[in-house]
Amino acid sequence: MSDSTQIDIAQRLTLVRERINAAENNHQRTPGAVDLLAVSKTHSSAAIRRAAAAEQKCFGESYLQEAQDKINALQDLDLEWHFIGPIQTNKAKGIALDFAWVHSVDRLKIAQKLSEQRPEHLAPLQMCLQVNVSGEDSKSGVTLAELAELAQAVVQLPRLNLRGLMTIPARTDDLSVQRHAFASLRLALEALNAKHDLQLDTLSMGMSSDMEAAIAEGATIVRIGTDIFGPRK
Ligand SMILES: *Cc1c(COP(=O)(O)O)cnc(C)c1O
Repeated sequence: MSDSTQIDIAQRLTLVRERINAAENNHQRTPGAVDLLAVSKTHSSAAIRRAAAAEQKCFGESYLQEAQDKINALQDLDLEWHFIGPIQTNKAKGIALDFAWVHSVDRLKIAQKLSEQRPEHLAPLQMCLQVNVSGEDSKSGVTLAELAELAQAVVQLPRLNLRGLMTIPARTDDLSVQRHAFASLRLALEALNAKHDLQLDTLSMGMSSDMEAAIAEGATIVRIGTDIFGPRK
């Protein structure tokens, strides 16, 4: 890869960080309250290496095999890997071995498998439940109606640490519609904490095209791919 690509990723990271800071500022969020997860799916380990050189530590991946190849290739770096894609049962073991976080759990069976397979020598797997806040528009995610029951079952699992909620709302350019979807996730988290005695602290929401709305509504992790690495391959 040429030097110009190298500069591009560092520069785009700087721009994304500036947008996060500005959104925190504009919406009365504590400075530094929002963490940046760089979504590197379909991008090369060389691209991740360039982002890491620009002080990005946390990376999101959606496909296990592809992620494992990159994790192996980048073992010399101190990176934190987050799984954000759909999870099939037969992938739970690999995810429990290689990732620090999983954002995309929407069934008890998958959570049980992840807990069973999490090695004792590793910290508990940090986990978010994926919630479908837009109704039929998106197929993945537990419904708001079923969320409390799932959360109460998942917090019992010994090798998981339930941290919060994640969503991928239906795509729209309408800022007020974006904010409404993200507000539903925030309200769902507040309700779980208040009614079910949980201490969830994580709202994983906001992508390249809607991160400002997500930060306005309380995101603590934004998941940004395109605006850091360019279009997916
Ligand atoms: C691909 C992906 C992203 C990143 O999306 P961009 O629009 O490229 O920023 C974020 N979250 C999830 C779950 C994804 O699959």
